[in-house]
Amino acid sequence: MNGSVGTRSTNDPAVGLPPSAGWLAPGWHAPGWPAPDPELSRTAVSAADGAYTQVRSSYMRVGSPRVVFRPTTEEDVQRAVRYAAEVRRVAGEPVPLSVRSGGHGISGASTNDGGIVIDLARMAGIESLDASASMVRVEAGTTWGELATRLAPYDRALTSGNVGGTGVGGIATAGGIGYFARSQGLTLDHVRRVRVVTADAAVRWVDAEHDPDLFWALRGGATQAGIGVCFELDVPAIGSASGGATVLHQEVEYLVDDLAGFVRDWGDWIGGAPRAAESFLMLQDAGVGRTVVRAQNVWANHDTAAAIPVLEAALNLGPVLHQQARAVPYPHLVPSFGRSHTRQQRLEMRAALVDRADRELGEAMAAALRHRATMLGELRALGAAVSDVPAEATAWAGRHQEVFAATWIQPLGQDLADESFRTLQELSTGTYGAYSTDVRAGEAERAWPGATGERLRHIADRVDPGRLFDAGLVLAPRARDLHKHG
Ligand SMILES: Cc1cc2nc3c(=O)[nH]c(=O)nc-3n(C[C@H](O)[C@H](O)[C@H](O)COP(=O)(O)OP(=O)(O)OC[C@H]3O[C@@H](n4cnc5c(N)ncnc54)[C@H](O)[C@@H]3O)c2cc1C
Repeated sequence: MNGSVGTRSTNDPAVGLPPSAGWLAPGWHAPGWPAPDPELSRTAVSAADGAYTQVRSSYMRVGSPRVVFRPTTEEDVQRAVRYAAEVRRVAGEPVPLSVRSGGHGISGASTNDGGIVIDLARMAGIESLDASASMVRVEAGTTWGELATRLAPYDRALTSGNVGGTGVGGIATAGGIGYFARSQGLTLDHVRRVRVVTADAAVRWVDAEHDPDLFWALRGGATQAGIGVCFELDVPAIGSASGGATVLHQEVEYLVDDLAGFVRDWGDWIGGAPRAAESFLMLQDAGVGRTVVRAQNVWANHDTAAAIPVLEAALNLGPVLHQQARAVPYPHLVPSFGRSHTRQQRLEMRAALVDRADRELGEAMAAALRHRATMLGELRALGAAVSDVPAEATAWAGRHQEVFAATWIQPLGQDLADESFRTLQELSTGTYGAYSTDVRAGEAERAWPGATGERLRHIADRVDPGRLFDAGLVLAPRARDLHKHG
């Protein structure tokens, strides 16, 4: 691997635009706001610039920020953080501040209206720290698809999400439920050091020895601990026989009459399978009491002899409409569709961690799918390596649950979304905050319950007492609450 930290992303939508397009023009300055440092100003994109349409929005939200800073160095990030704090001070109000890595955040918090975005897309360097790429240093703006492609020649792959366009910064700080969840755990379980810019604009490496509290918070607490600009990640070998990080990928489509029984049998099957097996289900109501279930099953090592009986057993879970299984290089499973976001997906989403895949979960999912606002449901197997990590080890508290459940909901408002998700919410014993459009206080309490929430709040009080980083799902208070109460 020849890449080094500082390599720019080839996916950057604004790369190649001439300076006349505006985004490199020096001297950006917003009326009523202080003038930024000239170095920072050079990274600014505003509505007057040609590149603005390519950087104003995220995957889930159209934004109209006053400025998008596009740093190329950590010093630029420090300048942007310092500037955002200064704007809030001068404006006398909590001007919105968003942090963006891949722009795939579901809450839409990586853009805003009238505020500042720090877009890390141009910080996308990847560097191997040893000859076999077992440890890599990756800048936050890298996408997981880019990283998968770079790691494949080493027969290594790191669990991320199942969409390659998601950013390293957004997943490594929030969670990461990917195709290797049962064998590798969450993405954040592989973070060994983080280079972080905190709300006071200081930058430092944190790890298990250096500010372990901050290191703990950066693995699951999202931006509440600061901006992770660079991550050192350990990367497992997946030992594929044919090289190139090849995995077995099985797709099965079922037409199910009894969803409760199907979910119980699916849970028994995947729960009893070796850890190399992972299974994601997408579910859709087909009317007349039936459900179309599409399973994506991945086998994450080269032991195909062991894989065959497991993947064959998947065909007995229900009436099969279609199935195919093939060996596929892992990067093909995590495609990246470029970085220019235009609110490609317009929906509400709700998520839950659920203790078991049993009939009760199947009934709750069936009820959610029947609701007129629900478009799709998801079930993903957890447990195994995710549960090996103690709940107190990171700011991701949900370690005992065996299933992740989510629904995609028509964008018709919070009330209808809540109503459609009610049966699943009742079974929920936690949530994955970065997989929901709900950013209300109750959701934050579910994402960071009990002692996890207390510790995270305590750390945020220390490193960000003014709540500069208060976008999206965060524990109270937000900056506006502090502002209101003087
Ligand atoms: C289509 C789609 C599929 C998805 N599939 C999966 C999946 O399979 N598994 C899974 O686990 N998740 C999945 N997600 C959820 C997604 O991984 C999270 O929302 C993640 O936070 C997105 O990261 P990003 O950098 O792309 O997002 P961004 O929109 O750039 O950021 C999202 C939020 O993360 C925080 N953040 C971003 N960068 C940093 C940083 N450098 N430091 C600190 N905080 C930061 C910010 O608060 C920001 O608001 C999916 C999302 C979408 C839209």
